[in-house]
Amino acid sequence: MVQNNVSEFMEKLIAKNPGETEFHQAVFEVYNSVMGFVDKNPKYKKARILERIAEPERMLTFRVAWVDDKGEVQVNRGYRIQMNSAIGPYKGGLRFHPTVTASVLKFLAFEQVFKNSLTTLPMGGGKGGSDFDPKGKSDNEVMAFCQKFMQELFRHIGPDTDVPAGDIGVGGREIGFLFGQYKKLRNEFTGVLTGKGLNWGGSLIRPEATGYGALYFVEEMLATRKDSLDSKIIVISGSGNVAQYACEKAHQMGGKVVTLSDSDGYIYDPEGINAQKLAFVIDLKNVKRGRIKDYATKFGCKFVAGKRPWEVKCDVALPCATQNEIDGNDAKKLVKNGCFCVGEGANMPSTPEAIEVFLGAKILYGPGKAANAGGVATSGLEMSQNSMRLGWTREEVDQRLNCIMKAIHAQCVEYGKQGNFINYVNGANIAGFIKVADAMIDQGVM
Ligand code: NDP
Repeated sequence: MVQNNVSEFMEKLIAKNPGETEFHQAVFEVYNSVMGFVDKNPKYKKARILERIAEPERMLTFRVAWVDDKGEVQVNRGYRIQMNSAIGPYKGGLRFHPTVTASVLKFLAFEQVFKNSLTTLPMGGGKGGSDFDPKGKSDNEVMAFCQKFMQELFRHIGPDTDVPAGDIGVGGREIGFLFGQYKKLRNEFTGVLTGKGLNWGGSLIRPEATGYGALYFVEEMLATRKDSLDSKIIVISGSGNVAQYACEKAHQMGGKVVTLSDSDGYIYDPEGINAQKLAFVIDLKNVKRGRIKDYATKFGCKFVAGKRPWEVKCDVALPCATQNEIDGNDAKKLVKNGCFCVGEGANMPSTPEAIEVFLGAKILYGPGKAANAGGVATSGLEMSQNSMRLGWTREEVDQRLNCIMKAIHAQCVEYGKQGNFINYVNGANIAGFIKVADAMIDQGVM
């Protein structure tokens, strides 16, 4: 019955949103979890909450024309998906990557709605970005693009309306250029973006928050089996913002991180990536904007070109790069090699087949909307500090982040417990859904 309802719903959704495969995948994953719950609570059906949550409140698409260093005109497409504002202003990152499409951003915005709800903070869900590729561009070109992108976006955002942040391809440099242009156009210095620089409204711990939060979540998952990260072998994908700080916290918690990757391949360092080696990665990626292969040359370890790290034997896997980076075969390989805990730093890194393998094997599987919610949670803390016009200490923000990750874990346990097993997928989806759905009912049909 539940399966039939999900299939029927998906058929209509696919017909209405043709070709948007990532968006279909994200909706299917959530509705597969919540359909049974909705069936038992007819008020959600009557208010047609499922149909309404899957329909963005507003979708903006705009041309971004800019001039490169050679004086040539370049044309990109900009987007902002304002998905749901039932529990607060739209909140979610901007992604600059050539693979960005409406489908990718709709999946991310949809996920963001439930994730933000789980954080316990008052934030709605949104996402945006462009098919612009910052890789290989000069600082001047990135600035030119960001200014032109904001020249349109500024009309649609604001500290009480929509507060974007970073995501793939959008870090501190890009947020700076975007904020500068917003301020110029509006003549207002407000908390309109998060991930800002520390001396102009940013929060301590925001750069670290997604990676640290993922590890706090993993720590909670392991504690349910009376285990910890101590001496565990950890495989991480990606080498950007999330991967870097996941690596740092995993190392601090006593684990041994043996891989990092980028879109060219992965490095395997059986000695483990310590603080000194991570400092090299951070400088390589954030300052020199180089490739992870250089790590292998520098530290004399293996670089595996064109592959992802899931073939490496590990206890814990932390996908921190991009969507659909673990397929069914990768998942089988991980489980066969003894991996018993997966914490998703990235958004939707596991395909539906991979999730089935993890749940079937009853390993600890923390989906992104729960495990990586520390980033947006700390963005929420940055918003609070901006509103109060004061800044909390590093310890204070870290402590709040830790409490939020524990609260998210507790919600997953409350709604996901199946006997001795915790189905974190169901837990996160149902807990995130209830708060948003109830707020929508309270606010009437719109
Ligand atoms: P960054 O741009 O800092 O890093 C992205 C990393 O992933 C890079 O190493 C990049 O390699 C790699 N990557 C990107 N696309 C691909 C691809 N198609 N195939 C293989 N590798 C790829 O982004 P973040 O670290 O901020 O984001 C990583 C993930 O975490 C994303 O899924 C994002 O949505 C999610 N996330 C981020 C949050 C944040 O606060 N930043 C919050 C919550 C989730 P290369 O340099 O070669 O492109």
